[in-house]
Amino acid sequence: MPNNHLTIAIDGPVASGKTVVGKEVSKILKIRFLDTGIMYRALSVAAINETISPYDEIELSKVAKTIVVEFDSTNNLAKSIKVNGYDVTSSLRNPEVNKLVSTISKIPEIREILVTNQRELSKHHSIIMVGRDIGTNVLKSASHKFYLEASPDIRAQRRFSELNSSSRITLDQVLKDIKHRDTLDSTRSHAPLKKASDATLINTDYLNIEQTVAIILKSIKCR
Ligand code: C5P
Repeated sequence: MPNNHLTIAIDGPVASGKTVVGKEVSKILKIRFLDTGIMYRALSVAAINETISPYDEIELSKVAKTIVVEFDSTNNLAKSIKVNGYDVTSSLRNPEVNKLVSTISKIPEIREILVTNQRELSKHHSIIMVGRDIGTNVLKSASHKFYLEASPDIRAQRRFSELNSSSRITLDQVLKDIKHRDTLDSTRSHAPLKKASDATLINTDYLNIEQTVAIILKSIKCR
């Protein structure tokens, strides 16, 4: 592996800023960015479309093996994600998906399939991967690891302000959803949400995106 092969892991709970910060760092470093949550979401979309039970591990495993992420070579971002050959990119953030995704992502067999896919994507390209288990599991020997945290109220406020005005979801519902998913993600037995012992902890309660990006870039350059 060449010396300049960068693997950067960013983990953290729902709406901790991983994606927006990770994308910005990828733009500056000109390396690929993958939000691994889209894979768990894509499988959830397929489960809804194809009425597969979230407890049907066998059927879900078959579908999980068909997930393909395509990158845009101009901006290094994932431009589409396909399941069973069809594009589910536009459905990833549907509220029904938010409800289902943490149940599906608990299944060890599913995680194994998706983690293999994620590791494959990091083999030939420098990459920033964000998720829940990147530093602890997917890229255990990542060159750089970060864990972003922020209080549930601040995360709910950030997520709420991203919703468009036609959304009928209240701030309170957003907060409840965040807390519920945090609990499911951090208490599951297989690869729970957890800070890797060698990850740099960044609390973003009082940091904006630029400040968080600056901390990450400084830490990468210093090593
Ligand atoms: O990051 P995002 O909120 O889009 O992730 C959706 C869900 O996918 C998470 O709540 C979690 O259940 C699951 N996930 C995971 N491991 C990852 C990324 C996401 O379990 N690496």
